[in-house]
Amino acid sequence: MAKQALRQTQWVSSAQTIAGRDHLAVQAVSEHLYADLLPGITNVTDRARCYSFYPWFVWAFDQRSKKKNTEEVIRIFRRAECLHTIIGINHELEAKKELPHGGGLVGRDTLVAVAKKVFDGGTIQLSHFSSLDAESSDRYFKNKFGGLGQYYLGPLKDLEVLDGDARTGIKYTKEWGATLAKLYNSTVETSKFFDAVRDDDIDRTIVQSLRSFCPCNLRNNGEERDALIDLFLCRGRGELKHAGGAERRRTLLLILDYARRTRATTRRFADPQGFLFGAYTRFLADDKPWIVDSHLEKTVEGWAIYQRHELLAIAAQGVFWAGLTALGLDAGYVRDTAAYAKWFANYFQPSLSTYFNSRFDAIISQHQLIQPSLSEWQSANHELSVANRLLEAQRHHDPQAVVSLSAQILTSLIARGCVEQPYGQFELADRFLDTYEINLAALQRRATTTWSQMDGRQWVEWIAANWSLRVHLRVALRKLRYQTQDTFRVVPLEDGLYVREAPAAKWSSPRLAQAFRFLHDLGALDESVDGAGAYLLTGFGEELLEAELDRA
Ligand SMILES: [Zn+2]
Repeated sequence: MAKQALRQTQWVSSAQTIAGRDHLAVQAVSEHLYADLLPGITNVTDRARCYSFYPWFVWAFDQRSKKKNTEEVIRIFRRAECLHTIIGINHELEAKKELPHGGGLVGRDTLVAVAKKVFDGGTIQLSHFSSLDAESSDRYFKNKFGGLGQYYLGPLKDLEVLDGDARTGIKYTKEWGATLAKLYNSTVETSKFFDAVRDDDIDRTIVQSLRSFCPCNLRNNGEERDALIDLFLCRGRGELKHAGGAERRRTLLLILDYARRTRATTRRFADPQGFLFGAYTRFLADDKPWIVDSHLEKTVEGWAIYQRHELLAIAAQGVFWAGLTALGLDAGYVRDTAAYAKWFANYFQPSLSTYFNSRFDAIISQHQLIQPSLSEWQSANHELSVANRLLEAQRHHDPQAVVSLSAQILTSLIARGCVEQPYGQFELADRFLDTYEINLAALQRRATTTWSQMDGRQWVEWIAANWSLRVHLRVALRKLRYQTQDTFRVVPLEDGLYVREAPAAKWSSPRLAQAFRFLHDLGALDESVDGAGAYLLTGFGEELLEAELDRA
């Protein structure tokens, strides 16, 4: 009982206790890699057409409004963003389909019920949901500039579409901003929209009359669509030319190339996980190699490195989750890191005993003989399948299985062999890799130095002590010192280390879901019947891919 109370003590009174994320700082490396491969799209920018809606709003407001103080802009903008989402959800209710219409629009969680009321014949006031002073349960977004301020402004500034900030005011650029705004404007009923925003009262007739604002129209608006494709694929010329962003262009083309190839496989549909598994192995579901155009070679290799790092991250997070889960069920406490390592090896002996009787080098050589080839990614013992099995075992709350599968992933990664530069094309400073210490370079270095001298039990103890507890304590101390946040999942108290909570292992979100969705919004991919997030290449997508590969 005393220990229970102690465990919940706020041990540093000034720090805010939060659940936090990335407790071993492994996903920070993943994030660095995918940000390089997909600049200008983020995990919270869900809809391609928002890249023309926002500059249009700023441009149209500028043309129409004499009063341009920041408060007025914010008041009108927030109503407009709410109305935009309600229009999308209304079309979704009519069409009985979420993805092309209201899916992923800003403030959706709050506004679905509101849009349903309108759809059922009711009348609502936009200001009731858009006002900054609205009740928090009604307010569609907390940030003053809503989803634009929180999600889209950063990428739109990077792409030179918008400029400024919430303090100085948001402006459209005269090149990209004005171009996209005018093209958007030519497809929508601008006056009707601003009248509705001003009048505040919204009913079904008004929302239906504004259907041209729904994101689904992008695929049919040739010029607006082509301008957004120019933006995302870096095709701008003259004053619309971008200096950066070529990696985004290549990743989007690689996705289209992958979608073209998957049509010929048993799997048929294209999705982000299939894309990553294909990049990692360079084989697709028909067991045939995925050969890409030479100028996409570096990009496919970049995603392969990302996926290799993700496998390492899943294994490390798995060891951490399983250890803390089991310790929580056992004593809930250890004296120190060394004691944890011993406890870990003893506790997990049932699932790790095959490792304990061999030397580390022998474990790796043995693994090389039995592991499936890289191309056999559908085999149950391929590291990609093992990672998915690990997540399944975690869902079934089975720490023994998770530890055993984590060890299998680590040995698989090492058994695949060393390369001179584990992060290849990516520029990662030594200091970065020292700070984010669980990484592919360290894995390779340890495997050929420290670990090669150990037996299996010593290796398991080393991982438990160093790549679980010590790394976590360092990461949590950094967050405490620099962000005044207490994210300790194991709390160091005077008499030892107490488990607070075991964070679950999970894949990172590398913006690919958004990239696939953008290609869908642009008409290059269609939704597949195979499930959420699965797509098929369209005729337009195929033409686009061929034209762009010819251009390269
Ligand atoms: Zn629609």
